[in-house]
Amino acid sequence: MNLAALVNSLRCSLLRIESRLLQAAGLDPHLAPALAVNGPSFLPQLQPQEEQEQPSALQDSIMWMAAPKKRRTIEVNRTRRRADSNLLKVKTNIEPCSECGHLKQKHILCGVCYSKVCKETGRIRQQIQAMEGGPLRAPTMESVVLYEGETPSQQDKDKRIVERARKRPAWFSS
Ligand SMILES: [Zn+2]
Repeated sequence: MNLAALVNSLRCSLLRIESRLLQAAGLDPHLAPALAVNGPSFLPQLQPQEEQEQPSALQDSIMWMAAPKKRRTIEVNRTRRRADSNLLKVKTNIEPCSECGHLKQKHILCGVCYSKVCKETGRIRQQIQAMEGGPLRAPTMESVVLYEGETPSQQDKDKRIVERARKRPAWFSS
C-alpha cells in the first residue's frame, strides 16, 4: 500500500468523524467550518472511482498484528532473559585427544587431527592428479597409497600404487 492511499483514507475517516460530530451537535454540516486535515499537496489525489475499491485493498495489504497492552518492565525482561534455561550449559564431557593432546569432546572427532588428515589427503589427491595428467583419466583399478619404506603386500598386487615421498605419519593409518 502506498502512502498516498493511507493519507487519503485517513482524510476520509476524519471527514466522516467531522460530519458525525456536527450531526450530534445539531449543526448544519454545510455551514460549519471544515475540520479536515489536508495531506501534503505533492501527494497524488485519488480519483472518486478508486475510492470505491479502496477498503478492500486496504484490508488486503495490512498485516494486523497483536500489540501488547502493557509495557513489561526492564526487571521482568532481564529476569526472563537471564533465566537458568537461557544460560550456557557447563560441559563436563571434555577430554584430551589421545593422539595429539588437544582438548575435544568425548565421542567426537578431534578437530586438530581431522584437519591434519584432510591436508594429507589433499596432497595425495594432488599427486594422483599429477600422475594422471588431467581429469577423467583414472584407471579402472583400486589405488593404494604407500609411504617411504613400505612394500606392497599380496593384496595390493593388482592395485595402482601411489608413492609418497615421506614417512607415514603416526596419525595416518592405511
Ligand atoms: Zn587430536
